[in-house]
Amino acid sequence: MSNRALRRTVFAFILTVLCSVYAVAQAVAPFNAAALAHDGDQVKYGSYLVIRVGDGIFKINDPGVTTGKGGAWGVDMYMVKGKTKAMVIDLGNNYVDGYVPDVIAPRPHAAEEFRAVVFGLAGKLPVEAMITHEHPDHDGMTGALLNIPQKVKLWLPENEDKTALMVQHKIDPAVYTRFAPGTEFDLGGGRKLKSYQVRGHSNGSSVYLLTPDVVLFTGDSIGSGFGQAFPRVETLKMFAEDSMKLVEALKATLTPWQRYQMKVYTGHAWQNVYAGWWAPNHPKVDVGYLDWRFVQDVASCADGILKGKWLQSGSGLVNVGKMEYTDAWPGAAGRSIMVYGTGTVITTMEAAYAAAGITPPAEEKK
Ligand SMILES: [Zn+2]
Repeated sequence: MSNRALRRTVFAFILTVLCSVYAVAQAVAPFNAAALAHDGDQVKYGSYLVIRVGDGIFKINDPGVTTGKGGAWGVDMYMVKGKTKAMVIDLGNNYVDGYVPDVIAPRPHAAEEFRAVVFGLAGKLPVEAMITHEHPDHDGMTGALLNIPQKVKLWLPENEDKTALMVQHKIDPAVYTRFAPGTEFDLGGGRKLKSYQVRGHSNGSSVYLLTPDVVLFTGDSIGSGFGQAFPRVETLKMFAEDSMKLVEALKATLTPWQRYQMKVYTGHAWQNVYAGWWAPNHPKVDVGYLDWRFVQDVASCADGILKGKWLQSGSGLVNVGKMEYTDAWPGAAGRSIMVYGTGTVITTMEAAYAAAGITPPAEEKK
């Protein structure tokens, strides 16, 4: 091929690539953020239902499907806008490449649609994203925010797994900047997000307190209304310690009146309605977000297990039986459900007795 012909071929190739990039970019409809003028307004877009839950605070709900496993059943992300930046909290399921263990297939235009929501909500503000923990249903859309003209800074709690992102989504974990527990993110205009580490669900699981609004974004750290599983003594103890510390920290940071107003937004809000534990026939409650009582009850539940309180009648901590199998949470099947008020911890009796330092009766030694 002559130089000229080669140049023409290369040019034609570049043109084809540009055209297809343009075609893909054009393939998704614009996201209409203007429709979210009032709290409670909703817009369905692509895989998501976007709900305004406050002034400049949005829930990006992935309603999920019951044909998959785990996170495929639905997950919630959030965006908070300050005066100088917009922060996305959690990045949901991976619909760009899919995620085989949860039976999630790739969806067409997933990255473009996710970006349309994120940048549509953010408007002119620069965007950053932070995840609560490095599980595949919370960091799944990381790839959609890489290698794009808008530079999106990505944040990850420093004690999270060093390799998870590569194992789950084949993405170099170095795309995230790690931060220490207690780090505060200033969004401008007085809005701040402060991180608190609550280990147990993972080694660096964190919750984020938005002030002055008093909204707590918890991911999976303290559960989503049908509890959180801590099958090992070590994670159960860690969780009891950190959740009690969180309660004390929130008491020290917020006035009583602020705490009573607290809205708790979890990682899997569809579970909130079960108010305790999963069972197909469990009556549901009509609830959109959880509250300060939930935070205290979850901590008291875990702490109560360490004190053997399920064995003391009148303590409020009750072992209500064993978790039934569900694809939403296959690993928890058969474990014991410990309930304290609105808080639930799902563990094995072996771990519960060991954590309490009590020798189990012969029939429970399994
Ligand atoms: Zn999750």
